Amino acid sequence: MTAKLQTLLTRSEKNMGSGIHPVVKESALEMIKRAYKEGIFVQISAGYRSMEEQAKLYGQGRLGYSYKGKNYSDLSKPKVTNAQPGQSYHNYGLAIDYFIVSDDGKIAIWTVDSKWKRVAAIGKDLGFQWGGDWASYKDYPHLEMTGGLSFSQLQAGKKPNLVSKVPTGDQIVKQIQKTLNSRYKTRIVVDGFYGPNTKKALIKGFQRELNKQYSAKLKVDGKWGPNTKAASPIIREGANGNITYILQAVLYSEGYNPNGVDGIFGSGTKSAVKVFQKANGLPADGIAGENTFAKLFA
Ligand SMILES: [Zn+2]
Repeated sequence: MTAKLQTLLTRSEKNMGSGIHPVVKESALEMIKRAYKEGIFVQISAGYRSMEEQAKLYGQGRLGYSYKGKNYSDLSKPKVTNAQPGQSYHNYGLAIDYFIVSDDGKIAIWTVDSKWKRVAAIGKDLGFQWGGDWASYKDYPHLEMTGGLSFSQLQAGKKPNLVSKVPTGDQIVKQIQKTLNSRYKTRIVVDGFYGPNTKKALIKGFQRELNKQYSAKLKVDGKWGPNTKAASPIIREGANGNITYILQAVLYSEGYNPNGVDGIFGSGTKSAVKVFQKANGLPADGIAGENTFAKLFA
């Protein structure tokens, strides 16, 4: 079992907390996705940290430390930070910490090796500054976006103007994701990126349509299998409806533009099917049947 991207993203999003800056969050998730494509599994362990949480951390290993009249001294634990409340970009939702996850997704690895440094490099490409580059004290898990603001400026309420370097998604893919959510209640993220969740939602839609239009008795699970394949219809130029829409949506998402994702099987869809078939070793007849759907969905 390898670590699942969605699991890494979900856990990371949770660990960043709701106080995280949206650009920091988006960039962190993008970093996880890019690393994943390179076979590096990374997860975010922390993001936004309130002043009280910071005080609790600072109090570890410190005798008689209190903040706003409350005692935060905890000598049962070792010192973990030199930053007092307000002295960390985490307190403003502008920093994250990461770690590497073992290939099976089960173990956290904190070794600063080539994988670790590669993640830092991806983070820097996305606009983060890395704690591993600091001259005095190196904080290897730490990435931050300060927007050029000091702690005192942030404490005075100044907001950083962060510009995301994450590419914006494809508008047509966004439209497809919206349609899937409204038509099949799939609840996928509308981000304009074709990933496993969008593909799963398309398969679910396909299964629903086969059950409805062809009385197939498929389990609507979004998984491509022999039953779904066997139930696939043959559709060709002149067809129209939701199955044609799904065909066009998956063709478009895979990079074969049918010249309109509108549920009408016209010449643009036919030629997209042909190009797809040719590229995938199928007879290029422009007619979509079980083998074409299998290549698109499996
Ligand atoms: Zn940090």
